[in-house]
Amino acid sequence: MWYMSVEIQHITKLFGEQKALNDVSFNIGTGEIVGLLGPNGAGKSTLMKIITGYLSPTSGDVIINGTNTQKDPVGIRQKIGYLPENNPLYSEMYIREFLEFIGRIYKMKGKLNSRIDEIVRLTGLISEQNKKINTLSKGYRQRVGLAQALIHNPDVLILDEPTSGLDPNQIRDIRNLISSAGQEKTVILSTHIMQEVEAICDRIIIIDKGQIVADEQAINIQAQSSLENQTVLLEFDPNPGKNDLQKIPGVGAVLQLKENKWLIQSQSKEDIRPNIFQFAVDQKLTVLSLTEQEKSLEDIFQELTQAK
Ligand code: ADP
Ligand code: MG
Repeated sequence: MWYMSVEIQHITKLFGEQKALNDVSFNIGTGEIVGLLGPNGAGKSTLMKIITGYLSPTSGDVIINGTNTQKDPVGIRQKIGYLPENNPLYSEMYIREFLEFIGRIYKMKGKLNSRIDEIVRLTGLISEQNKKINTLSKGYRQRVGLAQALIHNPDVLILDEPTSGLDPNQIRDIRNLISSAGQEKTVILSTHIMQEVEAICDRIIIIDKGQIVADEQAINIQAQSSLENQTVLLEFDPNPGKNDLQKIPGVGAVLQLKENKWLIQSQSKEDIRPNIFQFAVDQKLTVLSLTEQEKSLEDIFQELTQAK
């Protein structure tokens, strides 16, 4: 069966005294497009470099399709396409020359030329294909970056801030490219823009100061964005299960935050607080805090990631 997965297990990364990543764990299944969302300095690029094997973790493991990346770094690179932050390219090279160079690094022989034709078409580079990289606009440079990440048809795509610095039209084009190229791949992309994950991701993982602060399906996040409904921030003792919270009458989206906090949104405009209290009584839980949120998810995201 066609199967692929990325398992991040207890990844910690120290730079000197600084913990850039602090015990980060999550699993990604086949075909998911996951958005890694967080402010500058959160640890997104560090995590991506560790997944691709360009950086070793201080502790923890990355398992791709069942193989530990540290045990088979060369084999793993064949399975991963990587667009690094700031998309460093050999600017003196011609596009086709560059893609050929990359193809040879992956030891692609024989059909390399026809594969370059294919990838040039797929990334919308036909009109520019005979140009030097340093003559291209930023949007086209980004397409070349995607072309080099896709050339060896990897199972997993790691894209570090793929739309940063582009104008709105270029952003739309690159997002479309990622959505179509990502259809049969597992994709992890990083961004510090909320709308980016809403536009293309199935799932969003919010990272801040090296830790995961939220991990949700994008559909729930969209539900949360609606201000029509009531959103409450809650903390119980002991901590209930997510399934139980979802069974409370009138409850729609349930988002788990760190430190046993929950964001719960109603399905409609009704006040769900009485039902939450009744739930706590029935389950013999103490409600440690309950605050109604009058904010958009964008604001909540900012709150989650602001200085504490
Ligand atoms: P993001 O991509 O989310 O902006 P990074 O992963 O680049 O964050 O950085 C996370 C933290 O680790 C930052 O505080 C950054 O300064 C630090 N850092 C990243 N790379 C290095 C390095 N090579 N040496 C020292 N500190 C680093
Ligand atoms: Mg970064």
